[in-house]
Amino acid sequence: MIFDTLDTFGHEQVVFCHNKDAGLKAIIAIHNTVLGPGLGGLRMYPYKTEADALDDVLRLSRGMTYKNAVAGLNIGGAKGVIIGDPETDKSEALFRAFGKFVDSLGGRYITAEDVGIDVNDMEYVYRETEFVTGVHQVHGGSGDPSPFTAYGTMQGLMATLNKKYGDEEIGKYSYAVQGLGHVGMEFVKLLRERGAKIFVTDKAKALVEKAVSEYGAEAVGLDEIYDVAADVYSPCAMGGTVNEKTLPRLKAKIICGAANNQLANDAIGDEVEKRGILYAPDYAVNAGGVMNVSLEIDGYNRERAMRMMRTIYHNLGRIYEISERDRIPTYRAADRLAEERIAAIGKLKLPMGRSAPRFLGRMRGH
Ligand code: NAD
Repeated sequence: MIFDTLDTFGHEQVVFCHNKDAGLKAIIAIHNTVLGPGLGGLRMYPYKTEADALDDVLRLSRGMTYKNAVAGLNIGGAKGVIIGDPETDKSEALFRAFGKFVDSLGGRYITAEDVGIDVNDMEYVYRETEFVTGVHQVHGGSGDPSPFTAYGTMQGLMATLNKKYGDEEIGKYSYAVQGLGHVGMEFVKLLRERGAKIFVTDKAKALVEKAVSEYGAEAVGLDEIYDVAADVYSPCAMGGTVNEKTLPRLKAKIICGAANNQLANDAIGDEVEKRGILYAPDYAVNAGGVMNVSLEIDGYNRERAMRMMRTIYHNLGRIYEISERDRIPTYRAADRLAEERIAAIGKLKLPMGRSAPRFLGRMRGH
């Protein structure tokens, strides 16, 4: 049964990690390493069943392959999950036990933070393996990726405005920004600097107040965000917000934001296209975070990171070309770009070692 699933989704390797003393039950899924070692975050979540955990790690690791490929990185796709409650089940032993498993893979999997994991947990993992990104800056880590993600989202937005309207004047258009967290607030700041009209919403009142007072945004209700007359709907909170209920309400002609998994399903992606709304594929737009951590592998450098963020503009342009060339919706075109790149690079049969992680920037020592 499991091998059938792996066959369908194309995974290379799945590792079940168990350490009774540390209470560790984890799964690492390596989906594809054609472009390089598999990089993807570690998630800790109280999964109801082991099957749920397996399902999640298989889905997420495959997603990382596509994201990393479209981002133009020499990196493949992988992901880790720990079955447990991040509120109550964390311990040094748990993360060090996980780190030992990561190390045993010899660099085929490089881990990072994801839901339920913070930089302190990563410090424990880092004691057992160097194949970790997102550690403290003192170890050559890259710190909070959110400002980079916001800046990258701006690049994606410019490419999308250009495609839709033939110009990139961000300030000429209006935006409905949902979510004012780490990425959303920074995105609003960048929009404001360019003189844009911005509508905002968030569950946290204080964040809404900040966006209004500091960045001149107009506050709207949590549900109202789908009805405002804005040119761009920008999801920067949770996934699945473009769905059967919300899509008929959207006035925007562009969907471009940083949230993951914005489309509730593929059918919605097709419907977005039919309605003449240009969807900027989420994982291409929000790749700033993974681009940033990927630079830790060769030695982190902030300037290089900013330069890399700007490639998001070109990646989006390429996706829109493929969408037109093959007459497919943009969300499918993004997948095709990833598949074409993996196939082309896979054929080169480069000698082993070139893309092996080096972690040059690290000052290892605890
Ligand atoms: P965050 O937790 O800092 O912010 C999310 C914000 O959304 C919070 O302020 C929360 O109150 C708000 N929110 C939640 N539900 C809401 C709702 N229904 N309506 C309005 N607001 C709501 O998270 P973040 O790091 O800013 O990430 C935002 C999104 O971008 C997530 O989907 C994340 O997966 C994605 N993303 C983030 C990064 C990054 O670098 N942080 C990189 C890639 C993708």
